[in-house]
Amino acid sequence: MNVEVTPTPVPAPLLAATPEIAHVGIVGAGQMGNGIAHVCALAGVGVTMLDVKPEALDKAMAVMARNMERQVNRKLISAEDKDAALARIVTTTDYAAFGEADFVIEAATEKEEIKRAVFKTLIPHLSPSCMLASNTSSISITRLGAATDRPEKFVGMHFMNPVPVMKLVEIIRGIATDEPTFLAVDALAHKLGKTTAVAEDFPAFIVNRILVPMINEAVYALYEGVGSVEAIDTSMRLGANHPMGPLELADFIGLDTCLSIMQVLYEGLSDSKYRPCPLLVKYVEAGWLGRKTGRGFYDYGQTPPRPTR
Ligand code: NAD
Repeated sequence: MNVEVTPTPVPAPLLAATPEIAHVGIVGAGQMGNGIAHVCALAGVGVTMLDVKPEALDKAMAVMARNMERQVNRKLISAEDKDAALARIVTTTDYAAFGEADFVIEAATEKEEIKRAVFKTLIPHLSPSCMLASNTSSISITRLGAATDRPEKFVGMHFMNPVPVMKLVEIIRGIATDEPTFLAVDALAHKLGKTTAVAEDFPAFIVNRILVPMINEAVYALYEGVGSVEAIDTSMRLGANHPMGPLELADFIGLDTCLSIMQVLYEGLSDSKYRPCPLLVKYVEAGWLGRKTGRGFYDYGQTPPRPTR
């Protein structure tokens, strides 16, 4: 069945009040921060990217250069597009560099206390009109917005990993988010070539509310000995036609991020069906966080990666 969806037209006065986003600040230069910087810079948006670790900034620049080179080789962009995009990105460890930003996206580690501390340090450096977003996978947008001086200009902008490839951005309205902010961020997502879905501000929103409990269930299946890592991933790849098995996907997302999302679901919805699997907790305690640390449900020191159980 083909259902045609006609978007509700935005009233002209509201459209006129929608702020233009020409310069974006990004806090956190990890897998998501570098992907967001990549797509913004290619769309002609100026980017200032900050991390607490200077080495994370160097790594992010190298990853973006490599990923854009791949796009050049596939003739998706030209070499000039790549050079111009990389030249639009400035890296820093100093929040004072965010004075010019129209919009700042926080993409730091998925821990509420870290995100709150980021906003506290960031806010004194922002222009009064600067809008704010969090790329959080699960934490309440209303609560994060309330920790800032501008909850009406605060929104959830949830990109998918890897950002240059994945088409969706979930946009989450906090209870105080105003319409011009929502529309400006929605317009930015479209400018980046993404499709948006609007999610209400409930724990983990839409994608992760459905996806991460499935991953947690796969870890339970491993923990209970229902199947090996290989059997579980092969089953879901070939039996459910998923492009990646759930354990492979967990390694790709980061096991720390998966665990944080399960904890937010468990606490936020007070339902035991969301309890994180003890094996997932153990992997995170061991520092086996998946691809980003070289080991998770697979050992990435081997080619091809070898299951660790
Ligand atoms: P990551 O571990 O790759 O990167 C996090 C970065 O934040 C690191 O470079 C770290 O140095 C930096 N950081 C930590 N504390 C900081 C601080 N106080 N100030 C500035 N930088 C700080 O994590 P990630 O996968 O990029 O996730 C980032 C955010 O994006 C999280 O909120 C996560 O839930 C969300 N997210 C992740 C995915 C995914 O698949 N990994 C998908 C969508 C959204």
